Amino acid sequence: MEDYNARVKKLKELIDDADYILIGAGAGLSTAAGVEYGGKRFTDNFPEFIEKYGFQDMYTSMFYPFKSPEERWAYFAKHVYMNNIGIEGTDLYEKLFSIVKDKDYFVITTNTDDQFLKSGFDKDRFFRTQGTYSKIQCSKACHNKLYDDTELILKMMEKTDGDLKIPSELVPICPVCGEEMDLNLRKDSFFVEDEEWHEQNQNYIDFRQKALNGKLLLLEFGIGFNTPIIIRFPFDDLVKSHENVNLARFNRSHTELTVKLNGNYYLVPEDELGNYISQDIKDKYIPFNEDIDKTLDYFI
Ligand SMILES: [Zn+2]
Repeated sequence: MEDYNARVKKLKELIDDADYILIGAGAGLSTAAGVEYGGKRFTDNFPEFIEKYGFQDMYTSMFYPFKSPEERWAYFAKHVYMNNIGIEGTDLYEKLFSIVKDKDYFVITTNTDDQFLKSGFDKDRFFRTQGTYSKIQCSKACHNKLYDDTELILKMMEKTDGDLKIPSELVPICPVCGEEMDLNLRKDSFFVEDEEWHEQNQNYIDFRQKALNGKLLLLEFGIGFNTPIIIRFPFDDLVKSHENVNLARFNRSHTELTVKLNGNYYLVPEDELGNYISQDIKDKYIPFNEDIDKTLDYFI
């Protein structure tokens, strides 16, 4: 990896020079923004759930096999409140917005906390691929509609009893088929992609197509390997196959590019890229494993 200051300087030039900026963001960006699923933020806010269930963090607790819908929704309500409807836009997301707001930009994210929308990003320049905590859907996906859950979540929190259960009448039921409702999160084959989702998807496709006619900068933040085929691998393909595309990848542990060889994918560190792809890729791809927040300060 090149010297940090050299990489910062290079990225600053690329931001200034870009006709289009496409942001791809995963969980690591929200962690960097302070919306952490573990540690003190978890233990301070969920002591009663930790005591009752032995929860370790807010991620794994979402998959706990609760014995009843009343218990499940008591947890979901607190989780949704803490990670979406109860928090404002964070400084880091606002900082990122100030860097791109005068550019022709677009955002694709797997995050369900809506930090981009809360921090000023334009909803017409935003594609939320994996759902949002702020909406519920039929758990059997019997119809293609989402429902805002803000009031319901607040009510559930208010009515959660000492056994960490909500009253049965607050368990949301599908108005069409009578099954239980669920959060709009892509975790099984019942994820609902409503009309807005399809519009966002189309806007993303259109932006990419348009942006490939100019100088496109990809800014990728905190994307790991849970669902790399949504953002990370496509970004790798774009930077490798288009001369006018540059990529800055912010990642604490894996900044490598993916290279496909004999049908298998390999993560190739920057220093070894020359062995696999033409050498000039190194000038188009800038890895950062440093702090996102501090690094973004250089571009404001
Ligand atoms: Zn239904």
